[in-house]
Amino acid sequence: MKELSQNFLMEPRLISRIVRSAGSVKDCEVCEVGPGPGNITRSIIQNMPSRVLIIEKDKRFTPSLELLAESSPVPLELIFGDVMNFNLEQMFNEDNKMEWEDKCPQIHLIGNLPFNVSTPLIIRWLKAISERKSAWRYGRVRMTLTFQKEVAERMAAPIMTRERSRLSVMCQNWCRVEHKFNIPGRAFIPKPNVDVGVVRLTPLKKPIIDLPFDIIEKVVRSVFSFRQKHCIRGVETLFPKPVREQLASELLTAAAIEPSTRPFQLTVSEFGRISEAYMNICKEKPDYMKYNYRGQKSDDNWPFVEINNSDSSENI
Ligand code: SAM
Repeated sequence: MKELSQNFLMEPRLISRIVRSAGSVKDCEVCEVGPGPGNITRSIIQNMPSRVLIIEKDKRFTPSLELLAESSPVPLELIFGDVMNFNLEQMFNEDNKMEWEDKCPQIHLIGNLPFNVSTPLIIRWLKAISERKSAWRYGRVRMTLTFQKEVAERMAAPIMTRERSRLSVMCQNWCRVEHKFNIPGRAFIPKPNVDVGVVRLTPLKKPIIDLPFDIIEKVVRSVFSFRQKHCIRGVETLFPKPVREQLASELLTAAAIEPSTRPFQLTVSEFGRISEAYMNICKEKPDYMKYNYRGQKSDDNWPFVEINNSDSSENI
């Protein structure tokens, strides 16, 4: 089991605390991702949701999850699949759908997934939130998920802190992030080498930066690529070498950002101004949008070289 990063939470008190962190799930539809043998699922059921949907990748859990479904007092549907590729677009009751600006719908996503799944998954889900697709077709669906403690800290980190990172800006642009509590690694079987943070994310009525996900992701990634340096260093990587210094300077002037600001000192709104200034420059020269600093083999003959799109969830 170790090779699949499966660490099971056995402590009933901690399990119910995760479920309580989601808020009241009574009469709600709950989708649990990665239920494993069903320990968290049992606690969800005890809170009397209207329906539980579980998405599990590992078929070895079939017998215990089927038994749980048979004895559950509320409808429990078991789906075998990979949550990374799972579209939740048609999964919930249409009656639970809410307008985006309205209160959050009676739908919750809960999960204790392996860390190598939860971090890329949250990036995927932020993109779905930005496009109001998948589960977010039903409104501002809340998520309660576990992450490696350090990742949870980065997600919630305010400016001027050591933990402030790409992930802080990305999560906080679309969601209210609450790092609820930590669980020591020793509470899991087998014990992972790290502690675990429980995070609740509530999509915002209006994102702080209301621009396409891919643009924001590119700008934030570029600026944080030199975390300890002045932000102009990262902004320069948005542009090919021959025009890099000049355009980075012009961009920061247009965004009214002091070039010597460090990435961790920038607020989400300031990232918004940088993104807007970047978009304005790209309006004049759309080829700059395709420029990828890391993927570029050589800048000399840019833009005629092949561009590799880097995976947005990597090293966040
Ligand atoms: N939630 C259970 C608990 O807390 O005891 C199990 C936790 S274990 C860390 C992670 C679970 O997620 C495992 O059951 C594993 O099979 C499942 N899982 C891993 N990757 C998955 C994926 N991509 N889609 C769905 N389930 C996945």
